[in-house]
Amino acid sequence: MSIQSVNPANGKIVKSYREDPPDKVIRKIGQTHKAWLSWKESSFGERAVLMDKLAARLHAERDKLAALMAVEMGKPLKDGLAEIDKCAAVCQYYAGNASAFLQDQLVTTEAAKSYVSFQPLGTVLAVMPWNFPFWQVFRFLAPALMAGNCGVLKHASNVPGCALAIEQMVKDAGFPAHVFQTLLIGSKAVAAVIEHPLVKAVTLTGSTVAGTKVAAQAGLLLKKTVLELGGSDPYLVLEDADLEMAADVCASSRLINNGQSCIAAKRFIVAKKIEREFTSLFVDRIKQRKIGDPFETGTDLGPMARADLRDELHAQVLKNTEMGAKCILGGKVPARKGEHAYYEPTVLTNIKKGMPAYSEELFGPVAAILTARDTEHAISLANDTSFGLGAAVFTSNVQLGEEIARNKLQAGSCFVNSLVKSDPHLPFGGINQSGYGRELGMFGIHEFVNIKTVYVK
Ligand code: NAP
Repeated sequence: MSIQSVNPANGKIVKSYREDPPDKVIRKIGQTHKAWLSWKESSFGERAVLMDKLAARLHAERDKLAALMAVEMGKPLKDGLAEIDKCAAVCQYYAGNASAFLQDQLVTTEAAKSYVSFQPLGTVLAVMPWNFPFWQVFRFLAPALMAGNCGVLKHASNVPGCALAIEQMVKDAGFPAHVFQTLLIGSKAVAAVIEHPLVKAVTLTGSTVAGTKVAAQAGLLLKKTVLELGGSDPYLVLEDADLEMAADVCASSRLINNGQSCIAAKRFIVAKKIEREFTSLFVDRIKQRKIGDPFETGTDLGPMARADLRDELHAQVLKNTEMGAKCILGGKVPARKGEHAYYEPTVLTNIKKGMPAYSEELFGPVAAILTARDTEHAISLANDTSFGLGAAVFTSNVQLGEEIARNKLQAGSCFVNSLVKSDPHLPFGGINQSGYGRELGMFGIHEFVNIKTVYVK
């Protein structure tokens, strides 16, 4: 069996890799466990030195790594460079803060001494997606290693080059051999890894379907999971919003990573009174984005990551229009030769309950505009979803915005007058079908530790 990198801009095979056979996978898990037995004894100071070196390696190799993403999944170079810088930032963040986050916490009881201590679990399996091939891995890797865990990575099958580059970066930074290894395997081989007794926990970032399968198996084996899954983030644009600003931010958020982001804005819930004006400003912004070769300076949107994903998205768009939605921009697969996985940025209006854009995730450059009678209606449309990852509200009344974000919107991250974004300092994760558990911030590093009570009479 082989795993292939295919350039989505032209459909050409970049490289084929031999899949790791089962005995090699078992050997790697054993090696990582052995590495853990020493790694868990290292001090926070020793780990932090290596984590800072890893950040420096990322900075040094940023051009090469951005080019790798461009070729394997179509990310424009400037976005790839920003992604690598963010990975370096998360390494530095946990290098600087892990020790404080994981300090023993004294608790006064009847004991002579009682406290909470945070102990590493061992080898954690990370199942990761292709959309931010470095960031998704690093936001797991940095806290996991700083907490004294080790990791094995099963990356998405279309980004094997990125997966191997991450393993290499960890080695080059000077981490002990095998503390973080890539398993070159397809999704069918994941079950055997979860089952392995030396794999203590699993984190998966990906679709809700994959999340439920992995969580079901891990649940049967009583292994802890963190799930970062899909989303259909609502952006509420209220009557009193600054429409120019809202249109700018909404267009940027919808088109992050060519629309292939879990926290990209997906449903725009717009007050009826300003819908026409907002839509016109929004469409103008979308039209300004330059589609092209990810390697060319000035390209805003490259191809989607795979042609089959583009075809699925197009089928979703067609289903909406067949059901009565209006396509006011795009909605077409470009016919030009060589433009293998490209899709025109698309705007759908007149979205009603029952249509795919109302309830499903549109994982690509397609915006769905819904009309709200008033603020209460906007909130109820926003919450009428099986997901719950992020949400945003745009209003000139910041107090009202905060009240809606804090108390009304049902999602893991709710922003006011801003696009939803992840930040190493703040916890990130979802509720409902968007998953559970948190990455980043102090909460992220507490997911894969044994919160141990120590009691001395
Ligand atoms: P995906 O198809 O679920 O794949 C994600 C990873 O899971 C890949 O490594 C994939 O391997 C693996 N996988 C798929 N089915 C599996 C199974 N039955 N058992 C074990 N592993 C399995 O998702 P994707 O298309 O790469 O990414 C898009 C989705 O991820 C979207 O829904 C997006 O919203 C979500 N996402 C969420 C977050 C978040 O933080 N919440 C962040 C980014 C993306 P193969 O590639 O070998 O199939």
